[in-house]
Amino acid sequence: MPDFDFLVIGGGSGGVRAARRAAAHGAKSALVERRDLGGTCVNVGCIPKKLMVYAAETREALELAPGYGWRMRADFNWTESVAHRDGEISRLRAVYRRLLGESGVTLLEGEAVLSGPQQVRVQGREYQAKHILVATGSTPVRPELPGGEHAIVSDQAFHLPELPRRVCVVGGGYIGLEFACIFSGLGAEVTLLNRSKTLLRGFDREAVEFLTHTLPFSRRLNVRITNIRPMNNALTAHTDRGEDLYADTILFAIGRRPAVDGLGLEQAGVQTSPQGAILVNERYRSSVPSIYAIGDVTQRVMLTPTAIAEAEALTRGLFQNDWRQPDYNLVPSAVFSHPCLAAVGLTEEHARQKHGDIRVLRAHTKPLRYAFREKAPDSLIKVIAGADDRILGVHLVAPEAAELIQGFTLAMRAGATTAMLKDTIGIHPTLAEEFFSLD
Ligand code: NAP
Repeated sequence: MPDFDFLVIGGGSGGVRAARRAAAHGAKSALVERRDLGGTCVNVGCIPKKLMVYAAETREALELAPGYGWRMRADFNWTESVAHRDGEISRLRAVYRRLLGESGVTLLEGEAVLSGPQQVRVQGREYQAKHILVATGSTPVRPELPGGEHAIVSDQAFHLPELPRRVCVVGGGYIGLEFACIFSGLGAEVTLLNRSKTLLRGFDREAVEFLTHTLPFSRRLNVRITNIRPMNNALTAHTDRGEDLYADTILFAIGRRPAVDGLGLEQAGVQTSPQGAILVNERYRSSVPSIYAIGDVTQRVMLTPTAIAEAEALTRGLFQNDWRQPDYNLVPSAVFSHPCLAAVGLTEEHARQKHGDIRVLRAHTKPLRYAFREKAPDSLIKVIAGADDRILGVHLVAPEAAELIQGFTLAMRAGATTAMLKDTIGIHPTLAEEFFSLD
């Protein structure tokens, strides 16, 4: 008799959802976690990041306040802000623990090692499980260059003792842009460096260019740091262009890699990609039939809601024999920069490649909240439609972009067309009403 029907390694968003769902289906379920429950999202990702985004955006609210008749003196305290943020994180970890307990999932605390196709060792004890799920997530890529140990990655950016005065951010992806906006919003002098001239690769080019013009910090493109040296309580970064940059903190945000170190995948016979991602089929099954993997560790779509959707799909398949994958073609995503960029569906470039004949509708508009500010960033609304008028992609650069894009994901799944947009009554005055008068 196995100890468990379903044993999950990794207590992040995907792992916790899978363990709880399995238990709800009547499976004897366990979850192994070596650190804090909640994984990257709760501890060193989405949630603390978004709270820091709110902290940084408060600066803008304070700047706009006099226009609305408010007079106040602004004074940001890093220590207090971090303490409040960490209080919320602790609360969420406790919620995860409580939910696991209430769902009847056995929590095993410690490092898990696969010791066989149906065996997992935790703290010296071996457990037998009918199905094993690896949901260990990902970890930031660290720079490999002389002096790279003086730089930090996003995990450490959450635990800085004080707000750095000068920050150099390396990497123009999600994490680089988000932290550059956070640090600059909080008052640091920020320079963002990217090795190519393309920021936010994979996003709609026009939307990225529109966003780039409004970013509140300096950018250096086509440049790499070759070495880092500490100097007088600060850091000097030497670039391949022969310049020296000075910063108190250098943050590398150059991607994330699957967290598989020490898991024993090789001994268990689990095949991985050259980057270490667990290779799975359409049912999330690895090369070992009793071992499954979902979320970042499979390096497909590295987003919390996707890991959760995969947890739902896997447990529905395993315990209800209802195998259906989530719709990977319509995964919305948002870069919580300032302003926010959010998108769903195809970019203009991909839509042209795939469908040839497309229509692009767009609007630039100044959000009403900036009515009393002379120089304010416009918002961009961009809708791409195919020859049959079906909406293929929506791209937004706007303060509320992330909130707005979710409704469009649903509309696109339901087959929305631009004609339907024209027939829809909006709410005035909002940014979203612009969707219904696009030409
Ligand atoms: P990313 O979005 O893949 O961007 C990586 C950036 O680093 C790119 O600009 C890339 O440049 C650059 N780069 C890669 N290797 C480099 C190297 N060796 N030296 C210098 N630059 C290098 O990665 P990320 O920002 O680290 O985020 C990782 C993942 O976390 C994302 O894929 C995303 O799924 C997830 N995430 C999502 C959110 C969100 O949903 N809001 C937020 C944070 C993270 P080039 O493009 O020029 O090659």
